Amino acid sequence: MPKGVSMPILVMKFGGTSVADLDRIANAAVKVQREVERGYDVIVIVSAMSGRTNELVNWVETTSPFYDAREYDAVVSSGENVTAGLMALRLQEMGVSARSWQGWQVPINTTSAHSAARFESIPRDNLDAKFAEGFKVAVIAGFQGLSQEGRITTLGRGGSDTTAVAFAAAFGAERCDIYTDVDGIYTTDPRVSDKARKLDRIAFEEMLELASLGAKVLQTRSVELAMRYKVPLRVLSSFEETDETSGTLVCDEDKIMESKVVSGVAFSREEAKMTLVTVEDRPGIAGAIFGPLADAGVNVDMIVQNISEHQAKHAVKVTDMTFSCPINQVARARKAMEDARDAGLINFDDLVADEDVAKISVVGIGMRSHAGVAAQMFKALAAENVNIKVIATSEIKISVLVDRKYLELAVQALHDVFELDKA
Ligand code: ASP
Ligand code: MG
Repeated sequence: MPKGVSMPILVMKFGGTSVADLDRIANAAVKVQREVERGYDVIVIVSAMSGRTNELVNWVETTSPFYDAREYDAVVSSGENVTAGLMALRLQEMGVSARSWQGWQVPINTTSAHSAARFESIPRDNLDAKFAEGFKVAVIAGFQGLSQEGRITTLGRGGSDTTAVAFAAAFGAERCDIYTDVDGIYTTDPRVSDKARKLDRIAFEEMLELASLGAKVLQTRSVELAMRYKVPLRVLSSFEETDETSGTLVCDEDKIMESKVVSGVAFSREEAKMTLVTVEDRPGIAGAIFGPLADAGVNVDMIVQNISEHQAKHAVKVTDMTFSCPINQVARARKAMEDARDAGLINFDDLVADEDVAKISVVGIGMRSHAGVAAQMFKALAAENVNIKVIATSEIKISVLVDRKYLELAVQALHDVFELDKA
């Protein structure tokens, strides 16, 4: 094609394990070259070499425990600069015209929320000009951006996924391929059930639930962005030979033919159940509890309010409030509640934390039009003698808290009852 005629754009993202050393970078570069040969202009997004970001975080924390968040970002964003440059060099060695771009050079404009920045804009001009000159590949350092104050920002751990989707949206890419160390999205974690099956397709909304439940393959924010801008996302292995049919496509639900009621069973081991015993039952109490928890950054998921056993001992009407949160936020939640009590906002007799629970969820867009999924789930757990401690439901998800020792058993039972091993 003559210069200046625009080619279809493909975004390819390589995670940390896919660029862990020079051989793997070379391997990834071959995949990029293949797409160039197919006729694409390619935007490559790279993570830091695996382990590198953790090392950088550790260096920051060791140097300065209460670090300046701007300098944290300056340091931890640097791993991606190395892999972006190396990838561009490797492609050049292979005769592919490529150059690297750090976030500020594009520029990737973000908010100033250091270590949790969000995209504001990604102007196309600079990359478009390069593609128009005949360059085939733009290699972008993932995970980083530029604040309005001119400082380097980062997007939160796992943020390169989100960089990839944002570029795919900004450049109208045909697809966003996420190369990683697994070959797709599974019905459940294969380490927990040997019947886990790789899905050909999964709906954005289902993937969003799975990602926020802790399936670490994609950053939750990247799935949100992909859903909003309808960017088809493909998750595939960088260690295997791959073609257009490899991996799992995360896409709009109307592109999914096979419709199962339940698509997957997700779980989180690191869950805790907290109960505020005997809080006053009055209008505004939930706000008075969950406001301070939110302000303290506690990610509350399930909430149950029930009649307190201790009503008889109290003159006013009281209730027990139970909620779940990640186990590493228990201390923070406790402090927020004690502070709220000290400030006179709430009152409670006790705060009981059960740290031996796990959360298990079944997810599926088919639930919207099928009754009885919850009953089926509860019966399957009962048949295994697994006691359910808390239940929560949404349109496409049913979650339960159970004792952690039953996690594997419960996941396997649910995988069986919803026949997830069968296509
Ligand atoms: N390197 C960053 C991290 O480990 C970003 C990423 O790889 O997505 O979180
Ligand atoms: Mg990742």
